[in-house]
Amino acid sequence: MRMIDLIIKKRDGGTHTDAELEYIIKGISDGTVPDYQTAAWLMAVKFVGMSEHETAYLTHLMMHSGDTIDLSGIIGKTVDKHSTGGVGDKTSLALGPMVAACGVKVAKMSGRGLGHTGGTLDKLEAIPGVSVSMSREAFIKQVNDIGLAILGQTGALVPADKKLYALRDVTGTVESMPLIAGSIMSKKLASGADTILLDVKFGQGAFMKTLDEARELAKTMVAIGKSLKRDTRAIITDMQQPLGLAIGNILEVKEAIDTLHGHGPSDFVELCLSAGSIMLLQAHAASSLEQARARLIKTIEDGSAFNKLCQMIAAQGGDISYIKQPTKLEVAKNIVEIYAQSDGYIATINALAIGEAAMKLGAGRAKKEDVIDFSAGIVLKKKVADKVACGDIIAYAHTNISDFDDVLEEIKTAFIIQKEPVSAGPIVYEIIE
Ligand code: URA
Repeated sequence: MRMIDLIIKKRDGGTHTDAELEYIIKGISDGTVPDYQTAAWLMAVKFVGMSEHETAYLTHLMMHSGDTIDLSGIIGKTVDKHSTGGVGDKTSLALGPMVAACGVKVAKMSGRGLGHTGGTLDKLEAIPGVSVSMSREAFIKQVNDIGLAILGQTGALVPADKKLYALRDVTGTVESMPLIAGSIMSKKLASGADTILLDVKFGQGAFMKTLDEARELAKTMVAIGKSLKRDTRAIITDMQQPLGLAIGNILEVKEAIDTLHGHGPSDFVELCLSAGSIMLLQAHAASSLEQARARLIKTIEDGSAFNKLCQMIAAQGGDISYIKQPTKLEVAKNIVEIYAQSDGYIATINALAIGEAAMKLGAGRAKKEDVIDFSAGIVLKKKVADKVACGDIIAYAHTNISDFDDVLEEIKTAFIIQKEPVSAGPIVYEIIE
């Protein structure tokens, strides 16, 4: 087989055989296929696409390009959740403890934030002492002991994706449905949980900009999971405005803690309850969505979900006095009010603009090497549909930088206010099973 023939075949609209895909992924992994040929093939895939079988087989090969994690040492079904990323997405910090408090084993591999989207690992590391790296044995023991662990993905997992993603990033081939689905699903499948719930977000602040794109990605990933015999479901959720009120690492940790104490913002609480209900069904820990929801609500009311968070933080080396008294967590030097520019109703809050502004205030990384200021970020005081009067506070910027006037302007313009009342959309648009 020759790579040049396979590039031409895909370029001309062909469908790869399993043997051809094996040749390609092996060649990319061991370096016998040079980057320029891989790049050309990626561009052909971007334009021609892949069949359902090609996408699933590509994912299977990527998943097995490195280590896979064997979680069979965990007693009971293990559940995992993955978000395609958004602004203010602290879901794992509250949802993980809620689901674990229902007796379900949550074994979660998470990532770091880059660009305008935050990462769960960074949020966890904002809590003094927390470690997100541990041996496989320690991971399995922690999930068996307390039902919940969140750690960083190791370098040995899905090396083919690392190579492919790095090339896609610099060749204009990130935006390809089979390549995105294969990239996400290969990592989730290699992480070993019995069930996967995908939170596919859409809107300005998300990877997928429209509901249709999000639905297509969700369906593609659920089909991959099904064909590789893993219980995979998806929810399609709103990222047309930031999730909840807090954006930025420590600010989001505090919001997750508030949520576990019963004081979470309504959209965030609803997302946790909807996602958690599906996860309980996947683990056979409830017989209906209604029953699952009632169990999850009880974990907040009786404090068991908050206790679960404390157990996880302690097990991962964190100082739980910061969780019990979140006012101990670092606060930025400057907390600046941002005001509404007119009377009316909030029509939109551009999540991308807010995410980028939070990053500029210090909360995120523009490049992988950048250091995060855990205390920086934005707290929204108003959400879509809220009524405001000119001069009302609509948000606070938290930062340690001194030259922030331009960023404040960006936050201000992210809010569009209109005269007519606005109705807020749902947080969960669809469930794909
Ligand atoms: N996230 C991933 O992990 N891979 C993609 O290709 C896109 C988003």
